[in-house]
Amino acid sequence: MNIKENIDSLKKDLENYDAMLLAVTKTHGIDKIMEVYDYGLRDFGENKVQELIEKKEKMPDDINWHLIGHLQTNKVNKIVGEVCLIHSVDSLKILNKINNRAKSLSIVQDCLIQINVSKEESKSGFYVGEIDNLIKEASKLENIKIKGLMTMAPNTEDETIIRNCFRELKKIFDNLSNLSYNNIEMKYLSMGMTHDYKIALEEGANIIRVGSKIFGKRMYKNVR
Ligand SMILES: *Cc1c(COP(=O)(O)O)cnc(C)c1O
Repeated sequence: MNIKENIDSLKKDLENYDAMLLAVTKTHGIDKIMEVYDYGLRDFGENKVQELIEKKEKMPDDINWHLIGHLQTNKVNKIVGEVCLIHSVDSLKILNKINNRAKSLSIVQDCLIQINVSKEESKSGFYVGEIDNLIKEASKLENIKIKGLMTMAPNTEDETIIRNCFRELKKIFDNLSNLSYNNIEMKYLSMGMTHDYKIALEEGANIIRVGSKIFGKRMYKNVR
């Protein structure tokens, strides 16, 4: 399979859904990413700030960059204003920092709230019980806009567990959509990766974040 065939196959799976394909480019070089660009995709996701900025500088200007990985406080100033969407807001502290930086740039930074639906300790994100308070606090911040929710499903082969996770987040998303708060607009539901994007689409995702299914397996330089 080559990159074009991989994208064609993803597009086929997306045909019946109103959802965006976010190409996750982490660990991949400019040449490979440009193949995806030349094939028409314009939304790219990176999980590290430094890697994103380096790639952004070398690639065409009409790309929408998304930060999808955990954001450290000391990287906030580098990333705010550089991406169309930060998917991985996982604390009120980081949200405040994003807001302050956006304010100093006189911009509004769009963000998603990352939810740890399954309460796995290895995953970041807010627990479901923390969402109400978070939304209230976020609505006071004028230089961020909360545009939706993001989650990662548990690492399991059990489809039912994955499906239930996505289903629960969709329910929360729909409930929040009915409320009206300043700076909060439930537009994007970012869920589903290579192994579970089909389930995510069935459960209402409108952004899927796909890496391996486009680029093939990632080769990490350092084995951790
Ligand atoms: C790497 C990554 C993805 C894509 O993973 P694949 O399994 O390669 O599709 C999606 N979301 C996040 C947050 C990631 O870090």
